[in-house]
Amino acid sequence: MLFQDTIAAISTPIGVGGIGIIRVSGRDSVTIVDKVFRAANKKLLIDTHTHTINYGHIINDNGEILDEVLVMLMKGPRTFTREDVVEINCHGGPVPLNTVLMELIKNGARLAENGEFTKRAFLNGRIDLAQVEAIMDIIEAKTELSLSQAVGQLEGRLSKKIREYQERLIQVIARIEVSIDYPEYDQDEPITDDFEMELRDLVQEFNELLATADTGKMIREGVKTAIVGRPNVGKSSLLNALLEENKAIVTDIPGTTRDIVEAYLNIDGIPFLLLDTAGIRETEDVVEKIGVEKSKSSIEAADIVLMLIDSHSGITDKDIEILEQVRGKKIIYVCTKNDLGNTISREIVEEYLRYGEVINISSKTQYGLVELKNSMKQFVIKGSTSINGEVTLSNNRQKEALVKAIKSLNKVIEAIEIGLPEDCLAIDLHDAYGHLGMIIGEALKDEIINQLFSRFCLGK
Ligand code: GDP
Repeated sequence: MLFQDTIAAISTPIGVGGIGIIRVSGRDSVTIVDKVFRAANKKLLIDTHTHTINYGHIINDNGEILDEVLVMLMKGPRTFTREDVVEINCHGGPVPLNTVLMELIKNGARLAENGEFTKRAFLNGRIDLAQVEAIMDIIEAKTELSLSQAVGQLEGRLSKKIREYQERLIQVIARIEVSIDYPEYDQDEPITDDFEMELRDLVQEFNELLATADTGKMIREGVKTAIVGRPNVGKSSLLNALLEENKAIVTDIPGTTRDIVEAYLNIDGIPFLLLDTAGIRETEDVVEKIGVEKSKSSIEAADIVLMLIDSHSGITDKDIEILEQVRGKKIIYVCTKNDLGNTISREIVEEYLRYGEVINISSKTQYGLVELKNSMKQFVIKGSTSINGEVTLSNNRQKEALVKAIKSLNKVIEAIEIGLPEDCLAIDLHDAYGHLGMIIGEALKDEIINQLFSRFCLGK
């Protein structure tokens, strides 16, 4: 076993519930729990079969009963951490849970840090880093699609693909190394001809996987959607109509939405994080100024912008000002208040609204909302009918590693083209292999690992 100490933590959320679970993991977890647990059948856990549920009581030094519990005994290595794990199901209140936890600490366990159980599962080789991230994503899943993407990653879909790539690279590396070490076996033809094709194929496949990163990230974190437009254009009303609840306050005094309202909208499993903005304009009001600044930064951060234009009153100078601000973003132009009549002519559309799709809606009558949602969804899935089941990259860390792998392989291909000797190729091939490994957490620096696990909640 890698670790000397035994860790313990409350693994269920703090609060009141039917039960609460304390998890203990490490080489001494069974003996530590044996010191505080009296099984109804009088047997010690150390003498009990693994993977059993045992009824009894937790007692303190004086033999007083602290709680009535069920103890799940799971001896390693068939456990989450690969170590001996004991889970104590207590009554679910903060006091019984903390009392039992303190009793375990007194008897030799150490309070676990955030994510330490998962970290042990990783360091003991039970799961790789892509799977670690998947666990975090499962806990934080925003919609059923986010969940199914994360579950797929936990099952090792991405890891399997990365290992296949590594295997293919190894084949190439092996052939180069053989020809470097045993030049006497070299054929007349340079061996690089054989695997240049293979490297090109790999680069193409890597690029295809890379293209899934943005979709994967959006499914995981939500598509940041800024709702922008001049005051009174109908931003809050649209937000409410989309969410079918009164999240933002709607009034006809310009500038009511003083802060950014954030809410998740689920469109066929894709989470959209809606940001209602205060509208971009100069203002003297301090509170509103903050809102205006925030709205500018939310446009910058947005994956997609819903640019609202009032169909009834048409395009004003303010609209044109805002149109300038959102230039360069992915835009859907939303012409609001369609029920009041539409004055937006084809000429206006052609002159001002040429960077995106134009959709007419009325938040009041719900007209056009289905079309708008559909167009938002298409922005993510880009014409494909389903993104379920695909292997995707799901975060920037994975994406950066893959970008580096592609760069290294491109260097190799260039080197082959200008006829560099084989030993020059080996370094970049090894680099590419290493960068792929980063995606699943091979050879990752300690600081990165620590930083990653610190993002977990306690007891996970
Ligand atoms: P915001 O300042 O951009 O957030 O605009 P609001 O959503 O607060 O709307 C401003 C005014 O326009 C309110 O009086 C709304 O009732 C009205 N409004 C918004 N959407 C519609 C619509 O689809 N039809 C009609 N008739 N009025 C609307």
